[in-house]
Amino acid sequence: MQKAKQEATGTPLSQGGLNRPLKMVNMVQARCSKCNPRGQGKRGWWKTCKHDPYYTVREEEVRHPKLEQTEDGRTIKTGEEVEIEYHKVPNWKQIADDPKISSGRMVQIQRERGSVFPEEIGEPPICDYLNCWEPNPTIHAKRVFTHEGVQTVVGNYHHRDEAAIVTLRLNETPVYVGVDKDMERRRAQLDAVNIL
Ligand SMILES: [Zn+2]
Ligand SMILES: [Zn+2]
Repeated sequence: MQKAKQEATGTPLSQGGLNRPLKMVNMVQARCSKCNPRGQGKRGWWKTCKHDPYYTVREEEVRHPKLEQTEDGRTIKTGEEVEIEYHKVPNWKQIADDPKISSGRMVQIQRERGSVFPEEIGEPPICDYLNCWEPNPTIHAKRVFTHEGVQTVVGNYHHRDEAAIVTLRLNETPVYVGVDKDMERRRAQLDAVNIL
């Protein structure tokens, strides 16, 4: 719609990052090289996979230096012991929940490929704001916006401002950028949003 308006008037309109999704639902992907080799596993393979498909084991080197005191009072390293620790980490994937991305169907598409919400495998829920990753969000903004027939709920955030920004975005209201003199306008704009 914005593009049509731009073409009609000939004035350049800044997209202002408006097309970048900010609501990202964090899901955990099913992955298994035995049951789903090269993505060619049979339909629903994750339901019978016995290889912990929602986690990847990561190796981490832990170095323990061997230190000694010399007779003249210096501390020197004479060797090192290296241990490998194994950590099970969930296969996190940020999924854009935005009416403009795949008609708002990204979460459903991931579900159909075996992805789960973290709570389903005993992991804490994560804030829905792009790249935030804070666990256990406490702001539950339940407003629903409808865009071309696609319904999107504002979502779960760990900070009120995040919920306010996503509310404005889903309402297609440009958000003031928080630089210089715009700082106050942005503050006032975010504070005025009813996030519930
Ligand atoms: Zn498997
Ligand atoms: Zn957050």
